[in-house]
Amino acid sequence: MSEMKRVFAIFGNPVNHSKSPLMHNLAFKNLGIDGCYNRWLLEDGKTLRQTFLDLALKGVNVTVPHKEAAMLACDVVEPFAQEVKAVNTIVERDGKLYGYNTDAPGFYRALKRLGETRAALIIGAGGTARALSLYLRSKGVQVEVVNRSLGRLEWFKEEGFVSHTWSDFTSGDIDVVINSTSAGLEDESLPMPKELLDAALEKAKCAVDVIYAKETPFLKEAKKMGLPYFDGSEMLLQQGIIAFDYFTDRKFSLDEIENAMRPFMEL
Ligand code: NDP
Repeated sequence: MSEMKRVFAIFGNPVNHSKSPLMHNLAFKNLGIDGCYNRWLLEDGKTLRQTFLDLALKGVNVTVPHKEAAMLACDVVEPFAQEVKAVNTIVERDGKLYGYNTDAPGFYRALKRLGETRAALIIGAGGTARALSLYLRSKGVQVEVVNRSLGRLEWFKEEGFVSHTWSDFTSGDIDVVINSTSAGLEDESLPMPKELLDAALEKAKCAVDVIYAKETPFLKEAKKMGLPYFDGSEMLLQQGIIAFDYFTDRKFSLDEIENAMRPFMEL
């Protein structure tokens, strides 16, 4: 990076709750980089590109609800982000905006720590499930999806994933159960009926929740069964590590960035 101070931000709506400034500023400090990372409430996704340029930013992360708008704002979008229609990281290089998706690669980096995964069950069929299913499949993981209702499963069927609603689901051999729903975020519900969930967890070797800042009923159930697990805060950290790698133009190894950034989890 040049001598000039580099300014970064997270764009979202809402954005107040975001932990990204804490993560990135800590990594800048620990790696001795003259960088600064802020929050920016972006109300209209159509203004994303102009806002980025007006603020003279070097890079941004993008969160709900602007990940698709972020894809449209870029000059160059990596193939995976194009496929899932979601960009969560933008970097400016020579006046052009480059877009990436680091959510799914971050998730995968975290997952590898729990051991080898050959088969995954994803509960939920929203945007997160789409990104995770495509990425895991690209890494050779067999993915099965179960969702509360049929509508969102159409995409998975078209993409060739084995998918079920609760009524036609029986648990097969799986290594990991992933909760990608928002069940348990603002209530105390499980992502699927307890008998079905327990049957799946009994066959699994580990469990993962994408929700963070809360121990959900899903994770409590996995813990009760003694399964190794991680929650959405690990995914958040890992996507941040990969984003930081883009922000700093591959200057550090991912492990160096992780050492500099992980202490934010204790703050
Ligand atoms: P979507 O709104 O696109 O999809 C939500 C999914 O959850 C749908 O499949 C929906 O089922 C299902 N669902 C919602 N409520 C329930 C319930 N009570 N019981 C069973 N199923 C339910 O959401 P996203 O994919 O965008 O996000 C999902 C979660 O992922 C959020 O909690 C978000 O915070 C988290 N997330 C975490 C990240 C991280 O870094 N840790 C990154 C990105 C997202 P149906 O189709 O039947 O409505």
